[in-house]
Amino acid sequence: MAGESEIKETYQNFMKILEDLTNNAHELQEQMLEEILRRNAGTEYLSRFFPSGQADKQNFKTNVPIVTYEDIKPYIDRIANGETSSILFADPISQFLRRCFSVSDEGRSLSLYFCKPDMETPSGLVASSYVTFYSKSNIFKTSLAKFCISPIETILCLDIKQSMFCQLLTGLLQRDKVVLFGSTFASLLARTIKFLEDYWRELCCNIRTGYLSDWIIDPGCKNAMSLILTMPNPELADLIQQICEDKSWEGVIKKLWPKIKYISSICTGSMSQYIPLLEFYGGGIPLVSPSYASSEACFGINLKPLSNPFDVSYTFLPNIAYFEFLPVNKDGGGKAQVTRTIDKPVDLANVKLGQYYEVVVTTLAGLYRYRVGDVLRVTGFYNKSPQFQFVERQNVVLSIDADKTTEEDLWKAITNAKLILEPFGVMLTAYNSYSDISSTPGRYVLFWELKMKDSNDLPKLDVKIMEQCCCIVEESFDFTYKSLRKGGAISGLELRVVKRGSFDELMDFYISKGASISQYKPPCCLKSEEAIKILNSGTVGKFFSPKTMS
Ligand code: AMP
Repeated sequence: MAGESEIKETYQNFMKILEDLTNNAHELQEQMLEEILRRNAGTEYLSRFFPSGQADKQNFKTNVPIVTYEDIKPYIDRIANGETSSILFADPISQFLRRCFSVSDEGRSLSLYFCKPDMETPSGLVASSYVTFYSKSNIFKTSLAKFCISPIETILCLDIKQSMFCQLLTGLLQRDKVVLFGSTFASLLARTIKFLEDYWRELCCNIRTGYLSDWIIDPGCKNAMSLILTMPNPELADLIQQICEDKSWEGVIKKLWPKIKYISSICTGSMSQYIPLLEFYGGGIPLVSPSYASSEACFGINLKPLSNPFDVSYTFLPNIAYFEFLPVNKDGGGKAQVTRTIDKPVDLANVKLGQYYEVVVTTLAGLYRYRVGDVLRVTGFYNKSPQFQFVERQNVVLSIDADKTTEEDLWKAITNAKLILEPFGVMLTAYNSYSDISSTPGRYVLFWELKMKDSNDLPKLDVKIMEQCCCIVEESFDFTYKSLRKGGAISGLELRVVKRGSFDELMDFYISKGASISQYKPPCCLKSEEAIKILNSGTVGKFFSPKTMS
């Protein structure tokens, strides 16, 4: 067992490392770029940008272009097809792992992880999602997995339903050990709670009888569960039943797992739509958004875990990769002009407070000046390392004419509108949108999934209130939208309310197309006809703004 002093020492060591890193942000960034160039300047990709052979920072900045995935795809395809020369990387790919939260030996974390089948490139290289790769790695098995309550076999099971059932069953059977409830992204926690709503009776039945449901056929899951579900436990089943039979599920997480200290999940950016839901089910448990990371690199960590989830900033770690920032001209007053001065990226040490940037990354593993596609805002500095708020994915826009409504604009408008539903006990649990140009003039269409706070019933929708929601959303948009709308170039907004579970179906659709459930990010703005069809088929009510906007 880790004692108090051991935990204190670990914390002090962590803080010392953090102070060193952030105080030397500029120097570490310079060293990082030097190291990347020292290792990789001879690769086919980089060498052509250094014809004189001098691979220094100045030539890097002048000659190496800023790229997107499409630009480097041909090189990645060649590697995938089996070319072994050093195309992008001089060395084998190294893996950077995210910082993990220790919950000490006194408790366990019910952290939902899921694996998906690996794919093979034409030359036989294994291609995995990050979470799958990480869950199979030895470093996971020998460190973080020890804090997870779910047996590793249940995490490695490739069937999401069986895996989720067994992970939840384990969490319920050992409810007094669980001190953390989490997942990588908040969308997965929302999905997990919905699963619990659908399956709590069956989970209770397993606990009551001591028998595992017979549809759990995965050998790993069966084997692992046979060591945990060893005998009938009717008292526990009664207790869980009593909690879940309550009409309102407010605070259900705290009731089911009374020792929980916090919920850990990324809930910024497009995940912020799940904050109200998680706060509701959490019943006051802190919601911690631990880090800002991607498959390309880990960018930053949240040094104030208890800050309001809507105000989270991430401190960039200067020793992970070489970062540059493209200034983004985004008017804070709601005019969503997203213009980029892409010719002048600045270094980590030169970002300015309050300014918006798109992050560009150069990694040891062979990405050079790669546009990740995320827009961030500088909110402060920790020593000499900047802190950023995640604003939105770049290029996610609703647009009919000259209007451009970004992910953040949409989120703000919906946040304003849903306020009028609250007095009626109605919660918005998920949303997205698309630009409907099937008729002229086109219009914005929103999909909302709603639920009553005190039950899982679909709310009775008052047409007037819902139409008012449409108006508030439109009123919250920028000047360009409103003038085009008033001038008749955009039709009135349409709000489609979908039945509960529709957004799960959408998630299933993207998973069937190759997305990983653990890394799923709900699209804010739908482009796929099939995806729109799924939500249309779940639509139970349609509401419109008035024909003309006053
Ligand atoms: P993936 O490579 O699948 O892990 O996805 C990485 C992407 O997820 C990033 O480029 C962001 O768009 C998004 N993301 C990761 N961390 C956060 C965060 N803390 N807040 C908002 N979005 C995030």
